[in-house]
Amino acid sequence: MFSYRHAFHAGNHADVLKHTVLIAILRHLLQKDTALTVFDTHAGAGLYRLDGDYAETSGEAAGGILQLLASKDKPPAAPAKKAPDASKPAAVALAPIIQDYLDLVASFNNKGSHKVYPGSPFIIQRLLGERDKLKLFEIHPTDSKTLSANIAQLQAGRQVAVLREDGFEGLKKFLPPPARRALVLSDPSYEIKNDYARVVAMVADSLVRFSTGTYVVWYPIIPRPEAHDVPRKLKTLANKAGKSWLNATLTVKSSKLTSDESGEVIRPGLPASGMFVINPPHTLKAALQLALPQLASMLAQDQHATSTVESGG
Ligand code: SAM
Repeated sequence: MFSYRHAFHAGNHADVLKHTVLIAILRHLLQKDTALTVFDTHAGAGLYRLDGDYAETSGEAAGGILQLLASKDKPPAAPAKKAPDASKPAAVALAPIIQDYLDLVASFNNKGSHKVYPGSPFIIQRLLGERDKLKLFEIHPTDSKTLSANIAQLQAGRQVAVLREDGFEGLKKFLPPPARRALVLSDPSYEIKNDYARVVAMVADSLVRFSTGTYVVWYPIIPRPEAHDVPRKLKTLANKAGKSWLNATLTVKSSKLTSDESGEVIRPGLPASGMFVINPPHTLKAALQLALPQLASMLAQDQHATSTVESGG
């Protein structure tokens, strides 16, 4: 059985990127009057405790949401201008989509405390209107049970469905959705090497079933050919289908292996990740061009921290 538990990773820098982009997309899609169906093909447990055993063992939130919260009052400086009097670069305001993300996370916590971190199911549900629907796929028996219990507390009735099944396969039966408006978030753990190929195949199949949906895929940026292939193949798929796309990446540190004094190799952990979006809102690129350099600066673990936003179609 799978050993990946998102609770170890909740609130890390990859979640910060993923959830900031997700919220920005949803805000735009939810402005229209027609109902939206959102699919989360790899939902996780839904809610996480940052002071619980899992999160405290890994401490990954310390380099993600907690680091962001600690630096949000001193947002990054704007690049220095060449003018003689501009000896010190001026601080710039936090990008609106980062503020929106922080406000949403804060709304799950008592004022000033940062004990709870909402996963994608709770972030999405919080933003939906009454007419919108959310379908959550989670295959792991324990996480699926926890997710069902967490969702039950929302008393959201038929708005939210938890399906304990394979999200790659399960999505097929729902496309196209009744109101022909959908957002699909696919956030596999990539624990199984095949996930890299399966996520691309799922998007290819979905574009045939429902070409106007918005498809969002999170992927790790690690030195593995399958991982590099994900954005490359998604770009090819989108271009062939004549669809617009956007690829956003956030790097917080170098991916190089280092060693300690005894010569023991130190693995860097996840250095970077990306979000690939097909049929993105037209507002997304500008919002990310402002926000991502700020995230890179605030979450930097070394001088290799950087971000990119590329689009096409
Ligand atoms: N999307 C979540 C969030 O942002 O809060 C985190 C999801 S986590 C990265 C990936 C989840 O996918 C894990 O909980 C894992 O058990 C689940 N999973 C793995 N393979 C799956 C599959 N084929 N179908 C559905 N869920 C799967």
